[in-house]
Amino acid sequence: MAGIYIHIPFCKQACHYCDFHFSTQLKHKDELVAALLLELQIRRNYLGDAPIDSIYFGGGSPSILPAKDIAQILQYIVNNFEVNNAAEITLEANPDDLNKEKLKAYVQMGINRLSIGIQSFIDRDLIWMNRAHNSAEAKSCIKRAQDIGIENLSVDLIYGLPELSDKEWQENIAIALSHDIPHISSYALTVEEKTALASFINNGKQKPLVEEKTAYQFEILQSVMADNHFIHYEISNFCKEGHYAKHNTAYWKGHSYLGIGPSAHSYNQSTREWNIANNHQYIDQIRRDIIPSTIEILSLENRMNEYLMLSLRTIWGADLNYFEDAFGSANKNILLQKAEDKIKNKWLSNANHKLNITNNGKLMADKIAAELFF
Ligand code: SF4
Repeated sequence: MAGIYIHIPFCKQACHYCDFHFSTQLKHKDELVAALLLELQIRRNYLGDAPIDSIYFGGGSPSILPAKDIAQILQYIVNNFEVNNAAEITLEANPDDLNKEKLKAYVQMGINRLSIGIQSFIDRDLIWMNRAHNSAEAKSCIKRAQDIGIENLSVDLIYGLPELSDKEWQENIAIALSHDIPHISSYALTVEEKTALASFINNGKQKPLVEEKTAYQFEILQSVMADNHFIHYEISNFCKEGHYAKHNTAYWKGHSYLGIGPSAHSYNQSTREWNIANNHQYIDQIRRDIIPSTIEILSLENRMNEYLMLSLRTIWGADLNYFEDAFGSANKNILLQKAEDKIKNKWLSNANHKLNITNNGKLMADKIAAELFF
């Protein structure tokens, strides 16, 4: 099992909270697309002959590109990699890009899943975040995608926004659910360094976020999703049975993937590498047949920590039998010792040879995993 991720590093405008790599200048878009194709060619053997089970166009905003650019990249992958017939092919899209023509083109080229960056159905909050769409577009694009036959939809929603009341948050979730969507990714607003939001807070233009409010809105989310029979399969991800995101699940389960494009990460069980987060330098080096990446050779400790970090975020938890086979029984025993106080505090459970984060521990999942690190 393996996946391919393509990073499209362009956005219409910069959302205030975002620290992903993107540019709002599209002037070198064609050179960038050509470089992506070139990188795919240079790295076609990275995954060996592993069949490709998922392809993911992320960003940035892949939907900002003309559909023909996406089709060209996808066609190249299909022609040059062993793509499974049932592969999940996802494209991240913003509501304001999803017109009928683009949606039809996506279906035609084989995109079979859309992850739509809705974030909120409230105009006040969309403006506050500096999103490029409004709430009417957020609702209408879902309907348009479904009418064209794309049923496999995921929407992103953000909670913990300064003005978002608990009641409004419940309404946001209810609106998403009323559209009969099988998958929802929902993230707490966080303040990342070097974002507009961080500078607004630093210069007093914006009050700091309130952690308790975020935690309570996460509780609301968990409870409403459970009432609506969604499976909470990863800290930020909920789905109806049969709609797990294959691509992201493969990340969390430690499968290999090839990441193409500026800032994209790749992983092949023994190394992790990440491309330079600069469009101009990326294009320049790829043209000279150089992969502009930093490579980290993963030590035993790295691999154990990575396994804990990813697996504990999921419903499947950390499998102690797997841990013992892969990393040795001495390390499994050390892990169990480290886990003891967290089990006592009811942040972790240990049952059926699996360590799982409990509902109490979910909002601190990364911290708990970090405290188990080797
Ligand atoms: S559209 Fe997405 S990637 Fe682009 S700035 Fe907004 S959050 Fe970041």
